[in-house]
Amino acid sequence: MGQRFKFIVPLALFACTLGFTFNNKYDDALISFFLMFAFILLLVFDRNNITDEDGSAFNTTISKTPYNVFYGDELDFSDEMIIQILNKHFPYFVALNPPQKNRFLKRLKAFIDRKTFKIHDNKGFKEMPVLISAAAIQLSFGFENYLLPQFEFIHVYPQEFVHAHAAFSLLEGNVSGQSINMSWKHFLEGYQYPNDGQNVGLHEMAHAYYYQNFVCNENIENNFVSTFPHFSETANKVFELEKIPGNDLYSDYAMKSFQEFWAESIEIFFEKPSAMNNAYPDLYTGLKSLLCQDPLNYTGSMSR
Ligand SMILES: [Zn+2]
Repeated sequence: MGQRFKFIVPLALFACTLGFTFNNKYDDALISFFLMFAFILLLVFDRNNITDEDGSAFNTTISKTPYNVFYGDELDFSDEMIIQILNKHFPYFVALNPPQKNRFLKRLKAFIDRKTFKIHDNKGFKEMPVLISAAAIQLSFGFENYLLPQFEFIHVYPQEFVHAHAAFSLLEGNVSGQSINMSWKHFLEGYQYPNDGQNVGLHEMAHAYYYQNFVCNENIENNFVSTFPHFSETANKVFELEKIPGNDLYSDYAMKSFQEFWAESIEIFFEKPSAMNNAYPDLYTGLKSLLCQDPLNYTGSMSR
């Protein structure tokens, strides 16, 4: 349904209602009032369905709304469907043992339940809420508090999007206010190439968990907060070392600020753990105790 149509029809009907009333044509006024009411009801129930990415079970109503909203607690995905998506796209999940897989699934569903997904496209894919939430669960798998209550909204854009406060700058993802924003194209690439050290999903979640713990100071993960200063001390040394030509574990973008260095550290920790451990063993150890995870040795880790 066109955006303009949505406003013009009820407004026209409202004008008719007023017109008829002023002319004492109460029967006609009543009819246009009910038509206006019915049209508004129709708009409220005109909600799109979320679909599979591969095109099976498509039943989306094509809409030109600025975005489609999906409430996590109404999505009601079955375990089988979630597992199928994770097995296909999420190597981290595939590598877990059965009890860990159960725990991952439980956490993932609790996370999805609490989020509102705003998809800036005509259609939504089931993979979007599942996989984006899975990136948060991956990073926080060693945490007790993993739900990121500060971030109620997850915006998904088909590709790069323009930042509202910085026109002309195209982003693959960012975190602002109560929202985590993600380019779906870049998010998928992150997990398609799981060893290249680039993963926009993990990157944005790193910003989000930092923000939740150190800026909001709510729903704090005690171990994360108490071990961060130690990590930060090591990270500052590595930050300086990475400025020296020839040291190129990190991208130029990570050198922009400590925040970007932190987010990229998470990407490298999960995607190139050996390279990080070889170049900066103290940094790797610091991240291990910060996240209570060891990507070089999954058996026996993540026991909490
Ligand atoms: Zn960043």
